[in-house]
Amino acid sequence: MRDIAIIGGGINGCGVARDAAGRGLSVLLAEQGDLASGTSSASTKLIHGGLRYLEQYEFGLVRSSLREREVLLRLAPHIVRPMRFVLPHHRGLRPAFLIRLGLFLYDHLGGGRRILAPSRGLELAQVAVGRPLKPMYTRAFEYSDCWVDDARLVVLNAVDAAARGADIRVRTQVVSAQRTPSHWRIRLRNRISGQEETVAARALVNAAGAWAANGPAEGIAAHRRAAIRLVKGSHIVVRRLFEHESAYIFQNADRRIIFAIPYEQDYTLIGTTDVDFTGDPSCATISKEEADYLCRAVSEYFAAPVSPADVVWSYAGVRSLYDDGERSAQDATRDFVLELEGAAGQPALLTIIGGKITTYRRLAEEALLKLAPVFPQAGPAWTRDVPLPGGDFAHNELERLAAELAAAVPALGAATALRLIRTYGTTAREIFLARQDAPGLGAHFGAGFYEREAAHLVRHEWAITADDVLWRRTKLGLHIADNGRRQLADWLAAHPPGTVQDLPARSAPNRSAKSGLER
Ligand SMILES: Cc1cc2nc3c(=O)[nH]c(=O)nc-3n(C[C@H](O)[C@H](O)[C@H](O)COP(=O)(O)OP(=O)(O)OC[C@H]3O[C@@H](n4cnc5c(N)ncnc54)[C@H](O)[C@@H]3O)c2cc1C
Repeated sequence: MRDIAIIGGGINGCGVARDAAGRGLSVLLAEQGDLASGTSSASTKLIHGGLRYLEQYEFGLVRSSLREREVLLRLAPHIVRPMRFVLPHHRGLRPAFLIRLGLFLYDHLGGGRRILAPSRGLELAQVAVGRPLKPMYTRAFEYSDCWVDDARLVVLNAVDAAARGADIRVRTQVVSAQRTPSHWRIRLRNRISGQEETVAARALVNAAGAWAANGPAEGIAAHRRAAIRLVKGSHIVVRRLFEHESAYIFQNADRRIIFAIPYEQDYTLIGTTDVDFTGDPSCATISKEEADYLCRAVSEYFAAPVSPADVVWSYAGVRSLYDDGERSAQDATRDFVLELEGAAGQPALLTIIGGKITTYRRLAEEALLKLAPVFPQAGPAWTRDVPLPGGDFAHNELERLAAELAAAVPALGAATALRLIRTYGTTAREIFLARQDAPGLGAHFGAGFYEREAAHLVRHEWAITADDVLWRRTKLGLHIADNGRRQLADWLAAHPPGTVQDLPARSAPNRSAKSGLER
């Protein structure tokens, strides 16, 4: 009998799994596809307070989100980094005094801002960030938030949960859940082998995100009370529009805001939209209208217009939001709601509605707090101070670590060494230096991605298909050419999980937590 079974391997499911496993609870997590294959790899990838939410008076959400920025930067300095955002002043839209007031609150509301620089005003003619913009924009405001590799945040939570004893199952669908007087009987189906299995758990956590709206499994829908609103958001990726490392936040005439963010060195990420959605979240794709809308919105600001023909990649995700009765999708609350069902002594069902990548750690803490009466033996909250795997260094040491890796393995080159430290942090040393006598890097699939890294992803990060590797464990899908992708797909088909040889670990890469290498 497990203590907790979790439906869904997005950021919320994996965050709860890590937290619960670290408190000594036995955990099983089932994800029907790949980890982060739902909304958690389709976000704007910001750890942010949400400047826009101030207008909706969501002060509580903004305050706790602002605080999480530096917490997550400390816990995962390899995949989280500070970013400056430039907000050009548009004469026809929000007045400058209102923006200044908003930024004053943003600077001070969270308290405890130590690493991130405060906001300031800019004369665009005098700064590099003014150059790509139309000359009519003369003034701007600049403030700090953080960028995160969303899918890797999910995977690192799963890696650490597993290191603490959680049973993480991918390609495993929860097909039904039946509440008995003493426990949940949960039917799982492996979507590769077709095999079914029944497991028992004292509590069930429904972290199925947008899939929770229709009841993710037989026996669950009947327990859901709150209404869930599904809202699709899409992004486009175009070739790099500017040379500097700051992002833009543009106000649009419909009161929405659009981000243009440096992405994967050679690209710019533009998003997002808010469109009410019905149907299967797995089938969400960007519409022509959304792509046109995003191009039009940024072309209001950039001197060189962006057109749909410039789009090299796009993605769409579906938010599951708590339906607070707001009329428009953009105004629906982004805060999370946790619903606990099950009278005293009955097996509990905890449903997660809404939430942000930014607030996942706090959400997990609150989920465990709600379940505390069921598990009086569980340990105290702990995730605030324990780095995620590979994150046991300060964010300003990242370049030094990359230089050390490049010096130790010259065949990698400086750019690949930097990518590896940004992907794996100190775990990169274990992947590439663990065994001096090991054969070299193995086959090269392109863009500095070698067999050795692929083997690590299969063995320690549940990667099975080329998409898992190219779009979620890494973002190399934008960089590796078609023949490299085909070679990778062939290699993965020949090396399914369980057949790939382990790399012997020399030492734990993470001072405070066991790493995936020790699983
Ligand atoms: C366009 C967009 C932009 C966003 N930008 C940001 C941002 O910049 N910053 C931020 O903080 N937040 C952002 N968010 C919000 C954030 O992405 C989501 O709140 C978060 O990813 C939700 O995570 P989740 O784990 O609840 O859901 P998901 O990541 O969708 O995970 C749910 C998982 O459950 C699985 N599942 C469903 N049914 C079953 C079943 N029966 N059995 C097994 N598995 C099942 C699914 O396959 C899925 O992987 C954005 C959201 C969107 C849509």
